[in-house]
Order: sequence, then structure tokens, then C-alpha cells
Amino acid sequence: MDIFCKIINRELSAEVVIEDKDFIVIKDIHPAAPVHVLIIPKKHLDIIHEISHEELDILGKMFVVAGQAAKKLGVEKTGYRLILNQGPNAGQLVPHLHLHLLAGKPLGSKIAS
Ligand code: 5GP
Repeated sequence: MDIFCKIINRELSAEVVIEDKDFIVIKDIHPAAPVHVLIIPKKHLDIIHEISHEELDILGKMFVVAGQAAKKLGVEKTGYRLILNQGPNAGQLVPHLHLHLLAGKPLGSKIAS
């Protein structure tokens, strides 16, 4: 079982920012910016290019929840970056679909290095 499933099942603890029946938003344990949270669907989805049409509503809601998190964290006006890592070259560490929300400082214009 991956780390995020364990957090969802309360086998591991995390700082929860938002939770509803479909999603949990937690603070990243190693923040890469002053604000760094992870928007995680409770349904275990792994590979973005294997998402089915039936699962599209989860992807849509993931962005709605990201917006809710941005407002709750007070960064909706200053701005934020959403990142989805898929696979080794993207540096994906946890094989459970999630969005990163980064904010709290100017993040620069480069999105890859
Ligand atoms: P990925 O590289 O898979 O897109 O990002 C996974 C993220 O999960 C990383 O930024 C990492 O710091 C974070 N992370 C890994 N393990 C834990 C954990 O146990 N708790 C929390 N809150 N974040 C974690």
C-alpha cells in the first residue's frame, strides 16, 4: 500500500488542510515552497495516461479542490502553481495520483530544469 493510501486510512499521520469523501489535502512533509500541499484523491489512481472516462470526474474535482485549498491557504490572489508528476523522469515518488500546490513566494518562470 502506498504512503498516501496509508494517510487516507489513518495508518500514517499528516497535517490535513481539507478533507471530504473523495479527497484529502495535506501539507507536504518536505515543502518546496512556503505553501506546499498535496491534493490527493482517496480512490487509488496511479497512472495519468491510464485514467478512464469514468474517472474524469475525479480529475475535474481535483482542480476544484485545489482551488478550495488555494483560497483556504490565502494564496488565491498572489498565485500558485499546480504540478502533477508522472513517472521517473518527472521525479514521481509516490505512485498515487496527486497534485502539488506550491505558493507563498515568486516561483519563477521556469517549470523545468
Ligand atoms: P511526487 O514526487 O510523487 O509527485 O511527490 C510526492 C510528495 O509527497 C513529495 O513532495 C514528498 O515530499 C511528499 N511525501 C512523501 N512522503 C510523505 C509523507 O509521509 N507525508 C507527507 N505529508 N508528504 C509526503
